[in-house]
Order: sequence, then structure tokens, then C-alpha cells
Amino acid sequence: MYNNWSTVYDNDPAGTTIKTLCPHLNDARRFAPYVSFWLSQSLTGHGQFGQFLYRFGFSDDQTCQCGHDIQSVHHLRFDCPLTGRLRYHYSLAISSCVNIIDRTKMESAN
Ligand SMILES: [Zn+2]
Repeated sequence: MYNNWSTVYDNDPAGTTIKTLCPHLNDARRFAPYVSFWLSQSLTGHGQFGQFLYRFGFSDDQTCQCGHDIQSVHHLRFDCPLTGRLRYHYSLAISSCVNIIDRTKMESAN
């Protein structure tokens, strides 16, 4: 059953945002117990992100406030200089988690 589910995950054209954050099914499954309003927006890309707002006609501009041409979840999570401080504090918090449950909770809150 897992292999079928993994094949569907890999080949489904939907879910492009979650696949940039969680390339493999197991990467995504670890968040299941901790799904929240904010986590759902981040994993799906359906939230207050320039790329989403532009795509669905809620905004005529998808640029990031830092000047990057597309404000995507991936950009905010990994590249945006405006979220650099958050990434730094997040990495410090993650490094202090000694067990996998606490670490997964921290990662799901990201
Ligand atoms: Zn940016």
C-alpha cells in the first residue's frame, strides 16, 4: 500500500509546493500528527504568499518585499533575506531538540 501511495505522490501533478519542501512521501507523512492552519498553508502554498495570491487573482503582483520576482513558500523558507533571522532562530531551536518527537513538532511548526 505504501508503494502505491508513494507512486501517486511522486506522479501526481498537484502538490508542487509540498514536493519542493518534502520530496518523498515519508518527508510529508511525518507532519501528519501536527497539521495546523499555518502548516497547511505552508505545505500547500495556499496562503498569504505572493505567488498564491497572484495565481488566483487576489493580487496583481507576486514579487516578494525583498525584491525577488516570486514570493513562494520555497523562497520564504530557504532564500528570502527578510526571513533570514527566522531561519536562524529556527535552526537554533531545532538543534536543541534531542528527541525525534520534539524535533518533528518543531519542524511542523515551521
Ligand atoms: Zn523575499
